[in-house]
Amino acid sequence: MAKEDRVTIILKCTECGEETYITSKNKRKHPDRLEQKKYCPRCKKATIHREKKK
Ligand SMILES: [Zn+2]
Repeated sequence: MAKEDRVTIILKCTECGEETYITSKNKRKHPDRLEQKKYCPRCKKATIHREKKK
């Protein structure tokens, strides 16, 4: 089993910079930076959240 393919990532709001979500992804299936529309409690609306670069 190649468990190391799964990495923990932080999703950051692109509007206010808040690090809102912690999730995980398969870096082999998703080598590029993840981008998802999610609700940001600081902006009080759904915004684009992007994977924080480590
Ligand atoms: Zn925000």
